[in-house]
Parts: sequence; structure tokens; C-alpha cells
Amino acid sequence: MTQRPAQHSSALPPLAALTAPTLSWNDTSPHSDAFDDLYFSREDGRAETEHVFLGANRLPERFAEWQDTRAFVIGETGFGTGLNMLCAWACFEQHAPAHGRLHLLSTEKFPLDREALTRALSAWPSLARYSQVLCALWPDAVSGVHRLHLSERVTLDLHFGDTTERLNLLEGQVDAWFLDGFAPSKNPDMWQPELFEAMAARSRPGATFATFTCAGIVKRGLKAAGFHWKKVPGFGRKREMLAGGIESPTEDVRRSATPWFTPPAHRDAHHVVVIGAGMAGSSVAAALAKRGKQVTVIERDAPGAGASGNRQGALYVKLAVETNHQSRVYLAGLLYSQRWLGQLAAAFPQEPPLWQPCGVLQLALSDKEANRQQRFMANHPLPESVVSAQSDALSSLAGVPVSAAHGLYYPQAGWVQPKTLCEQLLQHPNITLRQGEVSALQQTQQAAKTAQWQVTLAHGETLQADHVVVATASLANQFAQTAELPLQQVRGQVSELTLPEGTQGPEKVVCAGGYVSPAVDNVLTFGASFVPNNATTQVVEEEHQRNIDELRQALPAWVAALEASGVALTPQHLKGRAAVRAASPDKTPYAGPVPNAAAWQRDYAVLSKDASKVPPIIGEHHSGLWISTAHGSRGLASAPLCAEVIASRICDEPLPLEQPLIDHLHPGRRVISALVRAQ
Ligand code: SAM
Repeated sequence: MTQRPAQHSSALPPLAALTAPTLSWNDTSPHSDAFDDLYFSREDGRAETEHVFLGANRLPERFAEWQDTRAFVIGETGFGTGLNMLCAWACFEQHAPAHGRLHLLSTEKFPLDREALTRALSAWPSLARYSQVLCALWPDAVSGVHRLHLSERVTLDLHFGDTTERLNLLEGQVDAWFLDGFAPSKNPDMWQPELFEAMAARSRPGATFATFTCAGIVKRGLKAAGFHWKKVPGFGRKREMLAGGIESPTEDVRRSATPWFTPPAHRDAHHVVVIGAGMAGSSVAAALAKRGKQVTVIERDAPGAGASGNRQGALYVKLAVETNHQSRVYLAGLLYSQRWLGQLAAAFPQEPPLWQPCGVLQLALSDKEANRQQRFMANHPLPESVVSAQSDALSSLAGVPVSAAHGLYYPQAGWVQPKTLCEQLLQHPNITLRQGEVSALQQTQQAAKTAQWQVTLAHGETLQADHVVVATASLANQFAQTAELPLQQVRGQVSELTLPEGTQGPEKVVCAGGYVSPAVDNVLTFGASFVPNNATTQVVEEEHQRNIDELRQALPAWVAALEASGVALTPQHLKGRAAVRAASPDKTPYAGPVPNAAAWQRDYAVLSKDASKVPPIIGEHHSGLWISTAHGSRGLASAPLCAEVIASRICDEPLPLEQPLIDHLHPGRRVISALVRAQ
């Protein structure tokens, strides 16, 4: 690694809805009006891509030789129509060995809308099987990282926003760069020295690049950042282009102010033990199994036996009025889960479906809440396809009269059957589910590269693993290594009411104090109670009554009509289920490596005297030990994305969130804040 000047700060830019570009079309070929440039060559865009980006990066050869267990990573500046990335995917399918995996990441400040994307890609019938997948998964135009699982072995992270800004937030390293983006003369703002510096800092040693241009600003910028380059023949009438690489990427200095969050050194993973088969454990097991890891899931009861075992679970979020890191994690999680659940439901068709994206309404039952929602909308420039403010249409959307005059509508959210979801996630040939209770964890080799974990079950049997992921909700801090993690137990009870045949119930998930989902098989599920510091699980009438009161508040006219028709809405007539959820003191999940809390307390003790004195010591972790917990009652929005965070880290791949959000999820954050608070 070479020491070069510090890179840009990694502060998170404001959340933004991105604007689609204004395009002029020549049949299926788009032209950008703002940049006055073409997205791809009208003559033979695909051949040009193959020559410039694939050929000059030697991708066919490198794919064919790829033996690594980690994914090969391609980074691109300017996704545009996706032609380059789809060609790379097709090339990978053609040349890479069956076990190989490909990770694509691309920035885009002006994403095409789905219609334009579909039209542009229709120019390439030979890529239809790839472009159909991309168009189906195409995300909303919201700034941030959008992870798309293009196939079992190909992932695409779309980093929506300005290229340089996004690369400075990227947590990950690239093997080959596609340096695209309109011609430097048409788009000088992008081709600045900071762009090349950001690329140099996110490259693996030996990373290559290719670009169609030979402009002086590009040659100078690349050289100054540490890349070598040479001119090679261009495509068609273009005489020359540039290709090259970097042997000694720039050191990542972004964590100098927070050295404790420096991720632990990577080490191989063949066998991973996941403890707990709720949403957190099942999703992390599935994410690892997909990456070719052997996973043993150890569950005390059965999949979804805890808080993930209700008949229905709503996918919804409650975002803060002012955008903060926590809301951004949840927003990213919501958008990710919506896409992920859609793919899972298609892969596991059943009746009723695993995932029902019926839409979620959040009612404002008080002026204070209405005001909060209005301020939230003013602060969050989100597209209507993500969330919109509603008033007159609330009852017609809900399908039943609602009591509120204002509300928020998340049209792509909905509900799932969490227990079935957990079971399906574990149906992977690389996953073995074992019933048992883990009583202790012990690291048997101290050297980080070879560290092994011994997992001891209550009856004395032991298992060996390279990595262990603890996903046991409120019990996650029961191990010696996790004991310092503050976790609160929160009891929640849902109520179930059997509706008379033919009753018209809510058509959306309706949230106010609690939530009510559309009925399944005439059973209406609503709740849930919220009782902090209570770990009991028997169903109690008092909490049924609380759930009834909340249902009555949200849908008074509907409840009155139901009672008038003879339905007795009393605790005695309800069934239910209670479970214990886990929460962290700051209500953000814990997802990441487990810190060695004693070492942190020792190494960073000075923070308790002067928080500005940051010792230049890298945070010590229990190498190979990970945790995903504290998902509270929003696990459907947070657990799947947290699973990707952990699996990506274990597999040494780019992460699906901006670096500050990865740090925000870090399980060690409370150790540091406790030291700082002691000041
Ligand atoms: N790689 C694309 C493909 O395969 O279709 C073509 C890229 S097109 C020539 C250039 C793209 O860069 C456009 O989509 C444009 O919106 C995007 N772009 C331009 N300036 C940008 C910037 N500063 N940050 C991110 N994207 C940018």
C-alpha cells in the first residue's frame, strides 16, 4: 500500500430523489440532452463494449482463470443503460468456472426510468435473458446503494448518486474498472482528480481499468492517482483508448477518526455456524449458502420459533423526521427487503404467497403525528413509488373506513409469513439445520488467519467452524464474548380474530399504534403489544385488550360494524401468540463483527477523559465471530440487509451500504459511546 494524500471525507450526503435524464431517441438508442452525448454507439454498441471494457481489462481470460472463492469485482462509473454490465455478466457466464461468482458495482447520478431502460436494452435481443432480470429488479431512483441479486452467483450494487461521492462512501475493493461516463469534453465535472483518487483507494492490488477516452485530463489524473496506463487500439473509427492498472492502491484512511471500526482482517470461510433460525439467522445462513459456504444452523426450537414465528409479519418502517443514519439504514433495508422478498416469493410459489406486497398505510391518529409525518415528507424527497402522503384516499386505499385524516402510504411494502419464510430460506443444499442449544463458544486458534471456533452444545457435543454468527435475538449476549453487548428484551403479543365468512377486511397493512394485516383464511392478525424488560411468552388478556383498543382506534367504523354483525371482540374470543424481541439502547440493530470489548475499553480508555484524543489503535475483534440481533419489531426491514452486510464481509466482497451506515450498525458502537459518555 502506498501513502498518498488523504482522500475525501466520508460524511453521508443528504438523501435525494434522483432525476431521470431527458433523452432523445433514435429508435432504441438514447441520447442525453443534458450532456449532448450518446449512451452507446448506434452502430455496434455491444461490440464496442466488448472491445473497450471487457477486452482491454482481459475479462474473458481472467474469468476463465478465476479460482478464488471470493467474487470477482467490477466497478463502473456511469451505469447508463447497463449495457456494459450486462455484457460483463454474459462474458462471465461464458468463461468463468461453475463455482465462480461475480460482483458488479456501478454508480449513476441520473438513473433512467424503467421504461427507458427497457427500451434501450431492447436493442440487444442477444442479451434479453439478462436485461429482463435487470429491468424486473430496477430500483427506485433514491440515492444510496441498491443491491440486486441478478442470479445465484451474480450480484449488482447500484450506487445511485455522484460517482466520486459514491466511490468515497464505498466499502469494498475492485478488480477491474470500467471508466465510462460521457466524454470528458461533455462531462468535465466527473473527470476530476478526485475521481481517480477514489478509484485508487478502492482498488485491489493489481486492479486494471479500461476507458474509451485518451483525453489528457484522464491520463494525468490516472497517473497522479497511481495508475499506469498505455494507449491501445480503440474500437471502430476511434484510433486509440486507454488501458492500465494499479499495483499499489492507496491506503484507506477514512477510519483514522474511528479506528475501532476498522474491519477485522479477512480469513477464509469454509464452514460457518449460525446460531438461531429466526429471520436474522435464516437470512444470514441463506446469504452465506448462496456464496458457496457450508452452513450449520443451530436452533434451540424450530425455525421462526421466536419473534419470527407469527402468522403474519408486516414489512414496514417508521422513519425519523430528520434523516439520520438509523432511518437511512431502515430505508435501505425496506427497499432491499421488498426486492428480495419478491424474488423469494417467485422462487417458492405457494398459496397464500410467502410475500404479499399489498401496500402499508401508516395512519396519523393525532395532530402531533400528522405534523410529524408532514415534516418527514418535507425532509425526505422520496418518489411516490416509495412513500406518499395521503388524506382523502386513505379509506379507499385501506378497503375499510379509517379514522385518520392523514397518513403515509408505502405502496410496495406488505406482509409475509415469517415462519414459512425462515423455513424456505433454510432449504438450501449448503445448509444443515440442527436442533440444539449452544452453551459456549471458544476460539481454539488465536492467529487471525487460522482462527477456529469450537461451538459447544448443551449436551456436550462440539462443532468446529471457521466463523460463527450469533443470531439469537435477546439471548445474543449470553456468550462470554458477547456479554458486554447491551440488549433489552421486549415482549410482544399479537391477537388473532376469526372473521365471519365474507367479511370485507383491510386490504392493506394498516399501522397506527399497532398494526393490522389483511386477513388470511379469514383470520385477522393485529397487535403487537410492546412490553420492555419482559421476557415472558404466555398469552395474556390484558394485552389482547390493548390490541383491541388500538384496532378500534385505527378502524372504529369497521370494528363497530363487525360488532353489530354479532362478532364478540373481547380478549376471551381471541387467540394469540407472544414472543420476545430484542432491542439495542439506540434502537439500531447490531450487525457486524463482535468487538473484544475488554480490549476496546483498555485501548480507548482515554476517550473517557478527552473524546477528541483518538488513539491510533485498530479495534480488536473476536476474529471470525459475528452478530445480527436487536432487530426489534422491524426485523423484516433490517435482518435481510444485515445478513448481506455480514455475508459480504465474511466473503470479502463489497458491502451493500455506505461506509458510515456500516459503522452505524457496528456491534461495538456502544462500547465507544459508553466511554465518551463517561467524560
Ligand atoms: N455504461 C453505460 C452503459 O453501459 O450503458 C453508458 C454510460 S453513459 C455513456 C454515461 C453515464 O454516466 C450516464 O448514465 C450518466 O447519467 C452517468 N453520469 C454522468 N456523470 C455522472 C456523475 N458525475 N456521477 C454518476 N453518474 C454520472
